[in-house]
Amino acid sequence: MTVAVYQLRPGELVRRRDGTVARADSSVTLIETPEMNILVDTGATNPDELVEALEARGGVDAVILTHSHTDHVANAPALAEALRPDFYAGEEELNDLPVDAEPVTAFDPPEGVEIVPTPGHTPGHVSVVVEDRLVIAGDACPTPDNALERKPPALAVDPEAAERSLRKVLKYPVVVPGHGIHVREEP
Ligand SMILES: [Zn+2]
Repeated sequence: MTVAVYQLRPGELVRRRDGTVARADSSVTLIETPEMNILVDTGATNPDELVEALEARGGVDAVILTHSHTDHVANAPALAEALRPDFYAGEEELNDLPVDAEPVTAFDPPEGVEIVPTPGHTPGHVSVVVEDRLVIAGDACPTPDNALERKPPALAVDPEAAERSLRKVLKYPVVVPGHGIHVREEP
């Protein structure tokens, strides 16, 4: 296999009994290809530990931010300073990021990696597909439960688009949700 995927952090999403979010930290996923290392989302806690983990794997060349919510991007400035990768996100997310980023359309992904628009949760949300079988879904599929119950994200600027985007990401056999460990379909 020429492309390897590591879910460096599973992240978490803790809700109170009334459904409001008590604590949120995104999953952080590294894609290693012969040409470059790509990180998808940065999470929001322990930036130093994340920088060390990435340095141990040879650094990171590009960071794809699925969307601009703080729990997915808050570690981006620390990564920018320590590792100087290029950042990319969906066009509609760019103004809300804590770092300078280019639109994903300006990114030329290596073989086996594809960036797909998955709007709905936010207007410019994107997901990253690896070798047509694994998708790093961000909050197009926020938790393993969303995948297992085929339930779109509760929070969506466009609920119909969010529903379509969920169906799109669930076509792939392995789904890395925005928070929590990946979900794998039995072969
Ligand atoms: Zn979000």
